[in-house]
Amino acid sequence: MTLSEYRKKRDFERTPEPAGKKRAKKARDGIFVVQKHRARRLHYDLRLELSGALVSWAVPKGPSLDPGAKRLAVRVEDHPLDYADFEGVIPGKEYGAGEVIVWDKGTWKWTPTPGRAHARNAAEALGAGKLDFTVSAKKLEGRFVLVRLGKEPGEKNWLLKKVRDEDAKPGSDVTSERPESVLTGRKIEDLRSSAG
Ligand code: MN
Repeated sequence: MTLSEYRKKRDFERTPEPAGKKRAKKARDGIFVVQKHRARRLHYDLRLELSGALVSWAVPKGPSLDPGAKRLAVRVEDHPLDYADFEGVIPGKEYGAGEVIVWDKGTWKWTPTPGRAHARNAAEALGAGKLDFTVSAKKLEGRFVLVRLGKEPGEKNWLLKKVRDEDAKPGSDVTSERPESVLTGRKIEDLRSSAG
């Protein structure tokens, strides 16, 4: 994992986003975070800590607890670990300009399907295009799966699905039921007035 693409796209003299200094700690579940980002198009950024960075996907419709919902998740550049707490406004002309709130935050761990794991660890599973994981956060709980569309390692399009388990809520719409930041309780509209 490297942050060079992340850093290349941003001018840290101008944007309040972190440049990325925080180091990974050992022996704990990885950071799980979903940020709601009102850029040119509203989307949700799903980020999973892996190998010292946050592996990231932009999910246009956001995650769902409905196991019937398949959500497009577009892989984007890895982000630094300290990005997980970033909430604020990316200024007008900068990359990703717009408001960001921490919509959900917690931990995740790789949970391969018993007897069907072809990968030895989460990094291998990611490379193979199928990542089964369990989330423990404030709004999202339980098992999810990310599946890459197509075999090419460079393919950016993945699908995010809730696995049918005791945390699944068929027919629910968690993004509209719980729009607020888990850090500050603010809605994304509350940041707009402070945009400068
Ligand atoms: Mn984004």
